[in-house]
Amino acid sequence: MIAVFILGSKCNMNCKFCMSEENDLNKDFIEKKLKELKGMVVFTGGEPLLYDVNEYLSIAKDLGLKTKVQTNGKLIHELNLDLVDVVNLPVDGCKKTHDWLREKGHFKTVMRAAKFASEKELSVTTVLTSVNLNEIEEIYDVVNSIGASSWKLFKFKPKGRGREHRELSISEEEFSKAVKKAKNIAENLKVYAVRDPDKMSALVFRNTNKKFQNHQ
Ligand code: SF4
Repeated sequence: MIAVFILGSKCNMNCKFCMSEENDLNKDFIEKKLKELKGMVVFTGGEPLLYDVNEYLSIAKDLGLKTKVQTNGKLIHELNLDLVDVVNLPVDGCKKTHDWLREKGHFKTVMRAAKFASEKELSVTTVLTSVNLNEIEEIYDVVNSIGASSWKLFKFKPKGRGREHRELSISEEEFSKAVKKAKNIAENLKVYAVRDPDKMSALVFRNTNKKFQNHQ
């Protein structure tokens, strides 16, 4: 089973398509839930390295869980790689598009982070929007060049900061076409599609309610 902890929305970036709007998960709640799990745990945010992710990884490893951290890569040097099995990084287009969607210079940051974590299994996420929909081949080349083993494509949803950038929306048909193309060219990778980030098939722990944080 895969369990995903969305630690909260704190981040050190301001990506245009950011869909994050969760409140922080309670630390005791995370530690309690970890003890009930088997299989793989994924820590995401926001930026997990702005939370106590190394502590959670340590607990997870002591429990024999496989671990994955989904980071934007800016604080990769703070990640205790000894406790991580899979490092997930974002690639959202060629350098120009990626930097426009995220921030200037971030594409290079991702490349550096991939190098830093190259001894680990790498995976990549891409948020498909109206501006990178036609860059599937370019994105695949980057995913391939950093040696990632899997590639997850998210359909942009205008939530979080993304509400201010509805022009980035794509249709269901456009998303399906792009996913099909990705699966055709990326035969050497596991390619996954997420049509709605609020309906992932994994067990997801997220705090969407202010009261939840204080009452769990
Ligand atoms: S998309 Fe990810 S990296 Fe960018 S602002 Fe949102 S949480 Fe941070």
